[in-house]
Amino acid sequence: MDVYKIALIPGDGVGPEVIDEGVKVLEKIAEMDGGFRFEFTRFPWGCEFYSETGKMMDEDGMEQLSEFDAIYLGAVGFPGVPDHISLWDLLLKIRKGFDQYINLRPIKLLNGAPCPLTEKPDIDMLVIRENSEGEYAGAGDWLFKDKPEEVVLQTGVFSRKGTERVIRYAYEEARAAGKTLTSISKGNALNYSMVFWDQVFEEVGKEYPDVKTASYLVDAASMFFVLDPTRFEIVVTSNLFGDILTDLGAALTGGLGLAAGANINPEKSYPSMFEPIHGSAPDIAGKELANPLAALWSASQMLDFFGQEDWGKRLLNTIEDLMVENKVLTPDMKGQATTKEVGDQVVEMLTAKV
Ligand code: ATP
Ligand code: MG
Repeated sequence: MDVYKIALIPGDGVGPEVIDEGVKVLEKIAEMDGGFRFEFTRFPWGCEFYSETGKMMDEDGMEQLSEFDAIYLGAVGFPGVPDHISLWDLLLKIRKGFDQYINLRPIKLLNGAPCPLTEKPDIDMLVIRENSEGEYAGAGDWLFKDKPEEVVLQTGVFSRKGTERVIRYAYEEARAAGKTLTSISKGNALNYSMVFWDQVFEEVGKEYPDVKTASYLVDAASMFFVLDPTRFEIVVTSNLFGDILTDLGAALTGGLGLAAGANINPEKSYPSMFEPIHGSAPDIAGKELANPLAALWSASQMLDFFGQEDWGKRLLNTIEDLMVENKVLTPDMKGQATTKEVGDQVVEMLTAKV
């Protein structure tokens, strides 16, 4: 029997509430399948841990995590702990330390999901965001601080290795799916980084003559995300552009309560990490109001990652059925159910489908 070792970092605020539902659903799926099981280990890291120890995770936290097949993370960050600490000392430490250089964000409008567009288009894209360098490399300088000649530099870092590997990953995905690959950049204004990006996109593309491609400037792409999102299938883009575009995409396809993301190390040299993209939502924490569907969608991504695509799809279909049924949903989706009730309902619908 296959055993998937999962490190749970429920984290702060609503994080533990939604991760509990994810664990419940994953355990039920493994039980129904019978061919694999999960072994969960819970880590208490996050902002509460920080206020007790002065650290976001154990000193040897990365070593401990490296033993696992995947990390399932709730949310990190809470009022009182500065964002740069909670983000850099836990989330980004893991993303960078485990070379999770691919950020996978499905932007798919499920039936029944709230959509602000009046005519609900058939949105179904996968955004592949560069997750390790680019505009978020943390490179720059602050010169002549507080003087009249003050200058601040924030440098985007685009290495050949870093750019090629994400673009190649995207071509592979597009080829496997038989879909069009769209590169989103800004070569007309960013005359070093994005010219290089476009060049690499073209170069690597020569190895994939069978893959249909398109290129957009990020400003135009933002417009089309809203006006005609169906033109995008698989999208590859830089760290900053991907960050912004996926939030726009999330807004179009059901909002924070539904948006999932995976941080992937494709070589599997290190664990990959799956998380709902929402934060700790302190305003609703502890009230059983949090929508667990984003956490469940990221659990579905985890199943895909383990090669259990049938289950991944089945879980996603169940999330969709639940929204179409429109009975057991949390208040952000205009329902009256609690976090647990939604998780229980998903389990019940999964079981009923056998
Ligand atoms: P962070 O900086 O950690 O990303 P944030 O303040 O930017 O945090 P969130 O914590 O994600 O954003 O929350 C923004 C708002 O969205 C919350 O105040 C909450 O009302 C709502 N929200 C977020 N996640 C959920 C969820 N799972 N279910 C329901 N509402 C949510
Ligand atoms: Mg946020």
